[in-house]
Amino acid sequence: MTTIPREIEGVPIARPARPLISIVAPCYNEAESVTLFTETVMGVIAEGDFDWELVFIDDGSKDETGAILLALADKYPEIRVVAFSRNFGKEAAMTAGLDYAKGDAVIVMDVDLQDPPELINAFIAKWREGFDVVYGSREDRTSDDYAKRFTAEGFYRVFNKISGVKIPENTGDYRLMDRRVVETIKSLPERSRFMKGLFAWVGYRSVGIAYKRPERAAGTTKFNFWRLWNFALEGFVSFSTAPLRVWSYLGGVVAFFSFLYATVIILRTIVTGSDVPGYASLLVFILFFGSVQIISVGVLGEYISRLFVEVKRRPIYVVDDVFSRIDSPTVAAGTPIAATKERRL
Ligand code: UDP
Ligand code: MG
Repeated sequence: MTTIPREIEGVPIARPARPLISIVAPCYNEAESVTLFTETVMGVIAEGDFDWELVFIDDGSKDETGAILLALADKYPEIRVVAFSRNFGKEAAMTAGLDYAKGDAVIVMDVDLQDPPELINAFIAKWREGFDVVYGSREDRTSDDYAKRFTAEGFYRVFNKISGVKIPENTGDYRLMDRRVVETIKSLPERSRFMKGLFAWVGYRSVGIAYKRPERAAGTTKFNFWRLWNFALEGFVSFSTAPLRVWSYLGGVVAFFSFLYATVIILRTIVTGSDVPGYASLLVFILFFGSVQIISVGVLGEYISRLFVEVKRRPIYVVDDVFSRIDSPTVAAGTPIAATKERRL
């Protein structure tokens, strides 16, 4: 934790001489990646002048991930594994990671090595300078295909226009956060965890470090188009009421033009007498307003369904097991590996 409060703007904040850095890594079916990830990360941080812990979240993996994580935790006392009872999604996994991490600073990263571990030391250096949040900023998106780049760009543009908070463009979840920031995020009560938005919402002194995002080291992406679309929708609806409010304005504009059109029809009827043309325009209007109404009801549905989820107040995730070695330096709690193994075998 910060030892000296930041009193004067611009004056570097003293961080603990030997801080504890937590690395939080959500994993879902990552059997091919976790070992390589652990070795690579440990290669980078082993020499650092800080203590560290690695908190893996096993997000209900259906492959060998759980067993591999168990073996890793058995081998290294700095590793702790939080296993979910089923797949709750990356946002829930990151939430759990922040809940369980004990460090003075917490780094969230993917296990597919798309978040280069070499950046960790740069993150920590910036944190020591006094920044509370240090995030990785993708220099380019060449590792993504054209469609993903295009949709991502569109998402950031729309999101930053309609929401109260601004997400820095081309920024993933890869970031370091000071303990104060982590505590603030933990205090946010909502169930809809659109973490990118929450990270931005809490604010604090932030800085980005540019990096080139490599291809996945192994395995395949867990986010197909449909999942990404729902993710984007979650972002819009959780961070903006604009889609909800736009209908009153749209309705107002349409009412205005309807009034003008009505006046034209009435005048024409009075002047030229009654006639009955306009079957086509009538049909167009009916179809148009019919669909506008259905869309607006759909948007209401998006918000109401989220209200419903919030009101139920179910936990964001369910933990099946937390395991780490009994001699783990950072953890007292956690099921001993032996007991976990027994239960799992
Ligand atoms: N992930 C997770 N739960 C999920 C989906 C993904 O914990 O339901 C993890 C995954 O194991 C990886 C990270 O989130 O560590 C990012 O996933 P992925 O690499 O598939 O996303 P992309 O980089 O393609 O956006
Ligand atoms: Mg990835």
